Amino acid sequence: MSELAFLGGKPIRTRIFPQSNTIGEEEKKAVMKVLDSGNLSQYVGSWNNDFKGGPTVQKFEKDWAEAFGVKYCHAVNSNTSGLYACIGACDIGPGDEVIVSPYTMTAGAIAPLIYGAVPVFADIDEDIFCLNAKSIEEKITPRTKAILVVHICGHPTDMDEVMAVAKKHNLKVIEDCAQSPMAKYKGRFVGTIGDVGIFSLNYHKHIHTGEGGMVVTNDPVIAEKVELIRNHGEAVVEGKKTKDLWNTFGFNFRMTEMEAAVGIEQLKKLPDLIEHRITNANYLSKKLGELPGIIPPMVKEGCTHVYYVQAFKFKKDIVGIHRNTFVDAMKAELPTMILRESTPIIGSGFAPPLYLQPIYQQRIHRCSFNCPRYEGEVSYEKGLCPVTERMFYEEVFTHEYMRPSFSESDLQDVVNAYEKVYGHVSDLMEYELKNAVPV
Ligand SMILES: *Cc1c(COP(=O)(O)O)cnc(C)c1O
Repeated sequence: MSELAFLGGKPIRTRIFPQSNTIGEEEKKAVMKVLDSGNLSQYVGSWNNDFKGGPTVQKFEKDWAEAFGVKYCHAVNSNTSGLYACIGACDIGPGDEVIVSPYTMTAGAIAPLIYGAVPVFADIDEDIFCLNAKSIEEKITPRTKAILVVHICGHPTDMDEVMAVAKKHNLKVIEDCAQSPMAKYKGRFVGTIGDVGIFSLNYHKHIHTGEGGMVVTNDPVIAEKVELIRNHGEAVVEGKKTKDLWNTFGFNFRMTEMEAAVGIEQLKKLPDLIEHRITNANYLSKKLGELPGIIPPMVKEGCTHVYYVQAFKFKKDIVGIHRNTFVDAMKAELPTMILRESTPIIGSGFAPPLYLQPIYQQRIHRCSFNCPRYEGEVSYEKGLCPVTERMFYEEVFTHEYMRPSFSESDLQDVVNAYEKVYGHVSDLMEYELKNAVPV
């Protein structure tokens, strides 16, 4: 019998890892203050003093604008709704195409569909997993209106290249920064380089308000539209004397005063939380990088990586087993869950190529790619984005052992587990042969 826990041996550790709870006394106090006031939200969906929300929401927006050095910030109730608002604010509609990433959370491709536009998937870069500018350019047609980049895993997209393509073809650039708050590209925060950026404040992001999001832009036209879309724009435009009425009908994407109160305190903690993530990730990258065939995340020159997750590449030709077998063996050595969360702390592949979802495969939408106004021909077939598919099915695995709550001794357990599994690869080769695991 092997010593590997996966094959019946004793695991390195069964004690659960420390909970990464960033909510403390500061947030509690701030929320109590809002509760005492009785105003849990102060929005009104018409043109008056309360159209922009209550004092706490507005303070949160002001703090965010200062921290990120950006002119306009709009708090919303999720990154997803922020994405919708941005697509609307960029005047995108039926017949239009938006270039999106297949290697991300599902909302990044659904946002154009909400406005009847067509998501067109470009491929990712094989080192940083963000959209690749060359692939973007290949997908541009006369119908393309915008590029929606995602700074995935916490590393910035190659923005110089993307902005050059956008400029050449007169396209808007929307940045999904859900996983990359305060990540820098050549000295600038992501989210402030393109036309508009969106951050997530859901509970598994760097900081959170339970649910929530923030839209940032330096463009007054986009800012005004986002504000209208957030809060019942159609009922507001007359009073506000808005001239451009296109896409200014609204939703309710409003953040509550309690969430904003939490957000103000969380934002103060963000730099330290990120620094701790980077320190932990650097330690693990150094240690695990010593194992041939395991390639730590690339950090490109001029970029900071803020490690929403730490994404490694796994070379099966060098290690000798399939990535999935390796990850399964790792899962058995360490407690796989973070307390409160059902997400495994290590996993294979990260994000399945979005175009393989039934909505694209079966083309289930009454407008968008089925719209009579759409004159293009979009493909969602398997093999469409070969780099994405190779990363998902073969090469990438991600872990969250770099979370700020992990101490030095927790990290040592993690390193020990990796080294143990790596040292027993021959047992796993035998296992793959016996169980006919396709490699
Ligand atoms: C989390 C996430 C979202 C969605 O954020 P919500 O606030 O939950 O709507 C969108 N895009 C990416 C890349 C994400 O990681």
